Amino acid sequence: MNEQKMPNPVNPLLKFWGIMLAITLILNLIVLPLISSSRVRETSYSFFLDSVEKGTVEMVQIEQSEINYIISQDGITQVCKTGIIDDPTLVPTLREKDIPFGSVIPSEPNPIMSFLLSWIMPIAMIGLMSYFLNRNLRKRMGNMPGMQFGSGKTGKQYVPDENSVKFSDVAGQEEAKESLMEVVDYLENPEKYAKVGAKCPKGVLLVGPPGTGKTLIAKAVAGEANVPFFSISGSEFVEMFVGRGAAKVRELFEQASKNAPCIVFIDEIDTIGKSRGSSFSTNDEREQTLNQLLTEMDGFGANKGVIILAATNRPEILDPALLRPGRFDRTVPLELPDLQGRIDILKVHAKNIKISGDIDYNYLARATSGASGAQLANIINEGALRAVREGRDAVLQEDLEESIETVIAGQQKKNAIMSDEEKKIVAYHEIGHALVAALQSHSAPVEKITIVPRTSGALGYTMQVEEGDKYLVSKSEALARLATIAGGRAAEEVVFNEITTGASNDIEKMTQLARSMVTKYGMSDEFGMMGLSQQSGGKYLDGGEQMNCSQATAEKVDKEVRAIINAAQEKARQLLRDNMDSLHELSAFLMKEETITGKQFMEILNKEPVA
Ligand code: ADP
Repeated sequence: MNEQKMPNPVNPLLKFWGIMLAITLILNLIVLPLISSSRVRETSYSFFLDSVEKGTVEMVQIEQSEINYIISQDGITQVCKTGIIDDPTLVPTLREKDIPFGSVIPSEPNPIMSFLLSWIMPIAMIGLMSYFLNRNLRKRMGNMPGMQFGSGKTGKQYVPDENSVKFSDVAGQEEAKESLMEVVDYLENPEKYAKVGAKCPKGVLLVGPPGTGKTLIAKAVAGEANVPFFSISGSEFVEMFVGRGAAKVRELFEQASKNAPCIVFIDEIDTIGKSRGSSFSTNDEREQTLNQLLTEMDGFGANKGVIILAATNRPEILDPALLRPGRFDRTVPLELPDLQGRIDILKVHAKNIKISGDIDYNYLARATSGASGAQLANIINEGALRAVREGRDAVLQEDLEESIETVIAGQQKKNAIMSDEEKKIVAYHEIGHALVAALQSHSAPVEKITIVPRTSGALGYTMQVEEGDKYLVSKSEALARLATIAGGRAAEEVVFNEITTGASNDIEKMTQLARSMVTKYGMSDEFGMMGLSQQSGGKYLDGGEQMNCSQATAEKVDKEVRAIINAAQEKARQLLRDNMDSLHELSAFLMKEETITGKQFMEILNKEPVA
């Protein structure tokens, strides 16, 4: 292992006081005498007598070995001194010229006092000043990683106790739990593996979108195995000073080996594990840190009992060296929860709050399709907060339903007032979407529509409740979806003969879907199953698509996409024109009530003869 001596933490302190002493010495021995001597001019005795004669001397002070005097000439006053001469005529001359003179009684300087003043005081003052400066600096940088010089501390240490996280606190994610069970088993019974000669993975990479419980499951592994849990974020390694990051990695591993068996959790490993040389600009500090991490991972034996779990949501940018066998050789994906997963997560978090009456978890889970574990936990908490706001001591189903809207669409803006004209447009727009959807599927398209402005900037919110998980989308479903998205703008067109900026998000979604149909899903007549694009960004964060075809083909793709979008828009317009009465009635209802449920929607729709 590449051992390097850490700098001794006492050295900087000694250095500091050494510098302080040097400054005081220079001040006392060189600077101060220089200053004081430069202020007094040394003259000859004859010059002194001449000045007395001329009458330029203002005052004379006769001391034991020298005469100090002040001369004033042409408006300039100067202090001068000269040696003493046995001159009995001096005093009568001074009297004659009427120049005040005197003698100072020599006093023994107090050696202790002068030592205190010239040596101890400056040192103490500089010391105090630097102490306060340092304290302020530390306070300001308090949470900044890497500013605790020589503290040797890395991350927090969690010693699992009975309250610590267990696998039962992690809902869903069964596949991930199964993979990690082996790690737990190894930590509990290392001899079982040693007997067979099996090596446990040194590092496990947890990949998945944000908020899917990567940190939680890592803690749960430590909790299940009842071993210490060291956690550090990748960004904490990235330091202001080159070399500190690598030193931190060394410290972390040193501390971990002393506490083995244990779990070391590195969150956001992509901050240091980014592929080296993948960008034009190099970052020495990051590369050194990564190299140190690789060295440390190679350094400790597989059966030493230190297992590293690392989390990232950008696995594609990690350096291949990090993923080779012997390092992070196992990858555990954590995906967004499915319907059952969401139900379980809601239930796990609902255990911590007081609930009154029956809660329909299935309904809540269906209304939160695509939400992450962290969002679901937040929904439960927002529900509890709402109950407190309303002065209740238990959470009701309606609190949770309302909090879904809060978490997904943002808080209702209390003082945002929409003009009646705008409200009317928003109502028609939202009903346009829902009506096109309902006319195509002949069932309730949405759970609820509200037209209260949200802090997220949305003017209306449509709550959709999925029947169940859906993994495949047919071409006709995709086309119907396009028409539904176009429904908002189409309603504005057919009713007001005018269009607004309210459809920008719809336009984005439609284009994306139509383009994917042509380039990715092979749903266009012209190109068939020809793949025309490839994913360019990450899988878990919103990555872009890159065209994978010639310029001429790209132009044809654009034409095809435009044709699909135009057809969807025309279909939406036609459906709405054929059902103008329903459109007006539903929009009037929404405008008046500001909220319409799926049930009310279908009642009004079914009243009218559907064209
Ligand atoms: P990540 O590290 O993947 O970004 P976290 O582990 O920090 O996500 O999750 C944040 C919070 O979300 C957790 O503290 C927990 O409350 C909640 N959470 C996420 N996934 C789950 C899950 N599967 N079961 C229970 N709670 C979850």
